[in-house]
Amino acid sequence: MSFHLCWTIDCESTRKEIGDVNLGENAIRGFAELLEQRNWRGTFFLVPGEVEPFADLLKALSEKGHEIALHLHPDELSSEGPYLGSYSGAAQEAMIRQAQDHFEKHLGTRPVSFRPGFCSANDATFVAMSRCGVRQASASMPGRRMTTAASHWAGAPLFSHYANPHNRFLSGGLDLVEIPISVDWESMIWGGIHPQDLRVEFTDSKNHGFLIEKIMKRQVHEGLPFKALVVLTHNLFRFADTGDFRRTTMLGMMDSMERVARDLKVDTAGTTLAAAAAAFRSAVPFRG
Ligand SMILES: [Zn+2]
Repeated sequence: MSFHLCWTIDCESTRKEIGDVNLGENAIRGFAELLEQRNWRGTFFLVPGEVEPFADLLKALSEKGHEIALHLHPDELSSEGPYLGSYSGAAQEAMIRQAQDHFEKHLGTRPVSFRPGFCSANDATFVAMSRCGVRQASASMPGRRMTTAASHWAGAPLFSHYANPHNRFLSGGLDLVEIPISVDWESMIWGGIHPQDLRVEFTDSKNHGFLIEKIMKRQVHEGLPFKALVVLTHNLFRFADTGDFRRTTMLGMMDSMERVARDLKVDTAGTTLAAAAAAFRSAVPFRG
């Protein structure tokens, strides 16, 4: 089975502290274009505020096979704080549903893939998602210990798994596939509270290349039935501009993935989160 390369972009250019839709659109268009050059497809995690200004663009992306997914920063919808993991399960469910309604109104479809802002979650989060019809998520950042953002994932599974209905650090029992953001399990940054991850803007393509190789090799050597990388970025960089540093980094990361795959003699597929989760479900059938 192919090594799934899940390129994801959190889209939040309309958030009040940013407020730059031109930049947001440049990033979305450029990110999609670079993936399409290799016949890959990506996942666009959008806060509800992005849906109206980019409705036509998002419909066009969806027609090309990219995935429109939900990203939620609760302060868009609630005055009770910005971190999803500080809310009750019922409140999380209500916000996710409200956001899905907004997508459906403007795009005609409900998102079924989800990532909370700041990867903020508590033990009620996966159940809340599932009750809203969410089928797959990329919510976890294994190793993270960011208490101020209610974003704790120390010891959480590094690789794809079915979520657990009672405890976000455990796996199995809930028919929802979690595909974690790819991290280095040995390198903590930001004062020891955050693992080095595959976010494009974190470093240059050379450094990312080492981590890509390390994470891909481990999955092949462990013989995992389903192998994936999850890269993330934000629509706050000019991916459409030739010569832009983040665009160059992204191109270099894509090259690294293909080089490592050749070395490891595995095929690659640049896919949406939904397509990757479907492949996981066939490789690892759910047993409730
Ligand atoms: Zn975000």
